[in-house]
Amino acid sequence: MPQNKRRAVIQSAAAMTVGAVAGCATPGLAGNSVKTPFTVGSTFIAIAGSDEMFPVRRIYCIGRNYAAHAREMGSDPSREPPFFFQKPTDAIQNVAPGSVADHPYPTLTKNYHYEVELVAALYRGGRNIAPEKALESVYAYAIGLDMTRRDLQRAMGDQKKPWEIGKSFDRSAPIGPLHLASRIGHFTQGSIWLKVNGETRQDANLNQMIWSVAEQISQLSQAFELAAGDIIYSGTPENVGPVVKGDQIVCHIDGLPDLSVKIT
Ligand code: MN
Repeated sequence: MPQNKRRAVIQSAAAMTVGAVAGCATPGLAGNSVKTPFTVGSTFIAIAGSDEMFPVRRIYCIGRNYAAHAREMGSDPSREPPFFFQKPTDAIQNVAPGSVADHPYPTLTKNYHYEVELVAALYRGGRNIAPEKALESVYAYAIGLDMTRRDLQRAMGDQKKPWEIGKSFDRSAPIGPLHLASRIGHFTQGSIWLKVNGETRQDANLNQMIWSVAEQISQLSQAFELAAGDIIYSGTPENVGPVVKGDQIVCHIDGLPDLSVKIT
């Protein structure tokens, strides 16, 4: 390409970039009319009793939200404020009730852990949401697994590096269908348990959460502007542990259908 023509191409590309950003109220987001060189998939979660799907915007996870689990992870639950991390949206693995989904053992780990968790899904958001208003943002609940490459998480933690590789990998977020809060209410108590090959491994009650779902939303909204499509994994109780290929996990929360996966 002749030099003057090449310069023109570069200049028009730069002008397009500036224009795209300037024309957008929210940088990074664009309307449906934008032309792209390829398409990228979106992530959805099934909604029980509906032909609609829930579009996922962000996955937030709360760490160490049950006192006994905080202690088993080596921290003092009485002093630690809630902390959060994220998984990529496409880490979701939808699991239909009554089915046993194949869940691939991930790469790089020799200590792959389950964490059963209550998941809250938002249909509105905001900043600095008061705890007493927070449940008004919750659209639905599901049962989920925060699958964890524990050896990598620990190694990174020991080196004061980000947990990403231990928590935020492909298919690290199996989840059942969403159940509308308007139908089943909000979860403040009830049994939460997990079995591996029929043997109980985790067995606790949702009322043992240090920070309730309402408090989690309130705290999160001080750090991030929450929005419709955000989901929150609300932390796991004690007795997390490893699985290997061939193991079958069944998880339960009172009021939701069980979630089951087989490690392959
Ligand atoms: Mn977790």
